Amino acid sequence: MKTQKIGILGGGQLAMLLAQAAIHFPVKISAYDPDANCSARSYVASFTQGNFDDTQKIIEFGKAHDVVIFETESIDIDALKALEADGIRVVSSPETLEWIRDKGKQKEVLRDAGAPIPAFEYVAASEVRNYNGTFPVVQKWRTGGYDGYGVTIHENADSLKNAKAVDSTFEEVIEIEKEISILLARGDAGDIAIYPPIEMVFDFATNMVDYLVAPAKITQIEKEELFAIAKNLAEKLNFIGIYAIECFIDKKGQIYVNEIAPRPHNSGHHTISANLASQYEQQIRIALGLPLGSTEQLMPCVMMNLLAENATGKTKYVGLEDALAIKNVQYTFYSKEQVRPSRKMGHAVIFEKTLEKALQKMNDVRTTLTITSDE
Ligand code: ADP
Repeated sequence: MKTQKIGILGGGQLAMLLAQAAIHFPVKISAYDPDANCSARSYVASFTQGNFDDTQKIIEFGKAHDVVIFETESIDIDALKALEADGIRVVSSPETLEWIRDKGKQKEVLRDAGAPIPAFEYVAASEVRNYNGTFPVVQKWRTGGYDGYGVTIHENADSLKNAKAVDSTFEEVIEIEKEISILLARGDAGDIAIYPPIEMVFDFATNMVDYLVAPAKITQIEKEELFAIAKNLAEKLNFIGIYAIECFIDKKGQIYVNEIAPRPHNSGHHTISANLASQYEQQIRIALGLPLGSTEQLMPCVMMNLLAENATGKTKYVGLEDALAIKNVQYTFYSKEQVRPSRKMGHAVIFEKTLEKALQKMNDVRTTLTITSDE
């Protein structure tokens, strides 16, 4: 097998972890990012600084590689299509990005592929504040949202007065019991590997994943149903690559698909140590056209994001040595030189046999380690 060159569009923590996974293969990894100090920079063979909307620069970067993968969905699609037309492999496909980026279009595609999704309707920017359907209702901006930013629950018509007037979908409110992420890898030959379901527990102050539990504590029937939904989507929509399929289970045990990410996902960091092959390794394998690795989980775990405090400036870690002394915790830091309020600075995976013990240890980490600024 000859050494292949893989270019990663995006140089954040996901790219850093993709570069780490690449050590298992004869490959050379490069990254492309607007930020010269991005997380992946120190872990790649070469780095190109450029914007994600710079069509020409992305094409130039891509052409120097055999395969291009991405860690963010905001890459210029024309550039990816041009690369594909030029014989460069792009994983996942640029066509997928087109429908993923528009939350409305995404809902249509998921529904048409047979996935159970919350009832929704399109509401144009000019109509948002006049909406007179059923309340409560979830407003989602069709584009430009992330990490819960761009998602609002309106309890009544009054709250629409302050609603952002942008093209939106208005969605039925699901009474969520659990939020589950299904990580699915699919190769060129249609081979599929699915990780044990992961429960994501959100912090409603930051709207980010507070911690996750893997494997999720759900019933066998729920697990089978989630796998069937994920597999059906992967086959109908011809997924090639690693995908996160975010789902809700409601109070009655009903499953809904919320959204899809066609790339490694924040909910899969633990797979590096907890599973035989990580989500990052699967993406590299798929990029190289290799067989998929095993998704078997060796140990149950809890993963927590390590977020910056409400601070801005040069990063300072307080209590790091004490935190590192806590046993059965594996830390990963994203080498971010600057903190911003609630910025994702790293994550910790806690390996304990019982969930109670892991959650207790998570609190120990939280009270021991602070990531702030030195200003
Ligand atoms: P983002 O991609 O910005 O994270 P999501 O669509 O995942 O946006 O929504 C963010 C959070 O909002 C979800 O994790 C969930 O907690 C809540 N949410 C989204 N859609 C619904 C819904 N239909 N009913 C109830 N809660 C929802």
